[in-house]
Amino acid sequence: MASYATWLESSIDGTRLELDRLQSMHAGRPLLVRYDLERARREVRREVLAGRERDLWRYGELLPVQRRENIVSLGEQATPLLACPRLGAQLGLEHLTIKDESHLPTGSFKSRGMALAVSRAKELGVTRLALPTAGNAGGAAAAYAARAGLECYVFMPKDTPLVNRLEAGLHGAKAFLVDGLIDDCGKVVREGAEAMGWFDLSTLKEPYRLEGKKTMGLELCEQLDWTLPDVILYPTGGGTGLVGMWKAFDELARLGWLEGEWADGRRPRLFACQSAGCAPIVRAFDAGERHALRFENAATVASGLRVPAAVGDFLILDAVRASGGQARAVAEERLLPWMFRASSAEGLGICPETAACFAVLEDLVNEGVVSPESRVVVWNTGAAQKYVEALEAPLPELPALGDIDWAAL
Ligand SMILES: *Cc1c(COP(=O)(O)O)cnc(C)c1O
Repeated sequence: MASYATWLESSIDGTRLELDRLQSMHAGRPLLVRYDLERARREVRREVLAGRERDLWRYGELLPVQRRENIVSLGEQATPLLACPRLGAQLGLEHLTIKDESHLPTGSFKSRGMALAVSRAKELGVTRLALPTAGNAGGAAAAYAARAGLECYVFMPKDTPLVNRLEAGLHGAKAFLVDGLIDDCGKVVREGAEAMGWFDLSTLKEPYRLEGKKTMGLELCEQLDWTLPDVILYPTGGGTGLVGMWKAFDELARLGWLEGEWADGRRPRLFACQSAGCAPIVRAFDAGERHALRFENAATVASGLRVPAAVGDFLILDAVRASGGQARAVAEERLLPWMFRASSAEGLGICPETAACFAVLEDLVNEGVVSPESRVVVWNTGAAQKYVEALEAPLPELPALGDIDWAAL
């Protein structure tokens, strides 16, 4: 299962850079891993996957790790794609499914990106990692760094959810709270990088987290027998998930692995979902811009969406527009009710980021943008259990035992 990765390409001007050297960005914008897909198309049949482990490393030809012994893994199994008929009926949809990423190591899809980023960092000789995080990325980076035996420094806003604040330390990272937002934390990493010898693992500032997120698109397509859904809703912060999926669909098409109309160029409509408390991508989408301005005073309970400025803004907006989808925001007040409603309808633990997707979906169905017979996939990017503050808030207090009025419960 040799990698077909060939070079790194600048996303802004197409400049090619060497693959087997530590690279971060080019002209201040992300680098993309390119593969020799012509050769892969001739040499690799999708049937080879049948005999492999059901984890993300099964797509090794389309991943950048050069030697298998450099893989840093915590057992990233394929996540379930679950039909949700009860929740679908509430929304007026016949085919609603949830791709449940809460099963992954450290309880969020961030492990996909970190598995690849840390594997490549190790492969290229890095010993010290650092990153800013809005929440789940810090825990995932700390866990994979520990697994690889690398040092890790994590910088997060001081009002990051409790579990995220604790888990980085749990896995032995040097974790720090910063009085500011994720981009302020990013500044600390940038300024300290040289003196501290850090390799910066920030979203899209190195090319490999994106390749890990890409496996979401590969896995979804394989689970749907090499077809794709009509509509995808994705909670969008830094955007690697959405951009990674879009890249996956493109690579699958070039490999000739897609079926039917999907092979002929049809793509799912992508909906990038944000909270009105931090909606830079939605604002740029509505204004017809390709780049987003920083969103001032960003505030949302969905910490993964609290990204006021995304270095890959144009990659997100290009993908959403090319897909015929939209970037949409919903009022912050709708997030927690939807988190509870979706979680209680089907027994899945829906994170507040994904709650934004359900509120958007409600609007899209009401507006007729998404029709009842559409095949819809909503991405549950993390485990509800990681958001203890959000979970605790609406619980009614139980009376002391003995005073319980059973009829009132
Ligand atoms: C990081 C994160 C997001 C945002 O993901 P991007 O791919 O960076 O847009 C959404 N949900 C959760 C739970 C996250 O941790």
